[in-house]
Amino acid sequence: MELIQLTILGSSSAVPTQTRNTSAQFLQFLHHSLLIDCGESSIHRMIRLGLPYDRIEYIFISHLHTDHILGLPGLLSSFALKNRSKPLTIFSPQGLQELLESWIGPTDELPYPLSWQIVDTQKSAVILDKKEFTVETIPLFHRIPTAGYLFREKRKKPNVRKEAIEKFHLSIDQIKAAKNRQPIHDSQGQPIDSQEVIVEPPPPRSYAYCSDTMYAPSVAEKVKGVNLLYHEATYLDELKDLAQARGHATALEAAQIAQQAQAGKLLLGHFSTRYKDVQSFETEAQTVFANTVAVEDGDVYDI
Ligand SMILES: [Zn+2]
Ligand SMILES: [Zn+2]
Repeated sequence: MELIQLTILGSSSAVPTQTRNTSAQFLQFLHHSLLIDCGESSIHRMIRLGLPYDRIEYIFISHLHTDHILGLPGLLSSFALKNRSKPLTIFSPQGLQELLESWIGPTDELPYPLSWQIVDTQKSAVILDKKEFTVETIPLFHRIPTAGYLFREKRKKPNVRKEAIEKFHLSIDQIKAAKNRQPIHDSQGQPIDSQEVIVEPPPPRSYAYCSDTMYAPSVAEKVKGVNLLYHEATYLDELKDLAQARGHATALEAAQIAQQAQAGKLLLGHFSTRYKDVQSFETEAQTVFANTVAVEDGDVYDI
């Protein structure tokens, strides 16, 4: 199977700690290198982990809090210093371009084409439609406009069995029809059972990034059936009121979202620095959703 692999670059909330950077993730999605959020020192983390950061084609920014964007000026400037020519597209809520340009100057003067795409944080939409995958926004509920992102592999066409081609003397047109899952008939005009003709590829895979957000059942609805779900869990449930007041979620709430969504696996991150050990996040979430991991920076997850 082709690679879909997530690397955690930062899993701390507002400020970095000795072992955790602020939010960022590198997502190798089939043949594409993607970056999700770009907290401080993301570039350094990618270099240390040996990730091909110069191949990043798309950057997805959830919101304009500094713990999700402070690594961008350095990253964009380093691309320029390394004479990048490959185009780059940045998706984000409104206001990022102005903010970035106040730091690094007009971005249309960079040596590589940079395209800014503003996402609507109020309603879900497909913002990127490639041959092999799509990216949709997930409206999130935070103190400022925030979007999550849902990455979906497209359903592949089935393979046509060699034996079936020989047995039924299938023509090129019939093979094409079978690949498009259309009914086909033998020389007597009798329908041929599709299971005899085609082999379905593995089901398409998906990943959802939901940070920062307070608990919202609509998020579960949007990410229904996702293979891997990253949901922020800034606090434990004992600080549920504080979480809500600050537009964040607890480990238990993240688990409830994973359970409602019937996700395959839940990753927790964006931990408040008040917690030295995050094992309790995992334990709390697992009372509701067993397949939960509290992530560490540098963790790699294959989908
Ligand atoms: Zn944050
Ligand atoms: Zn935030």
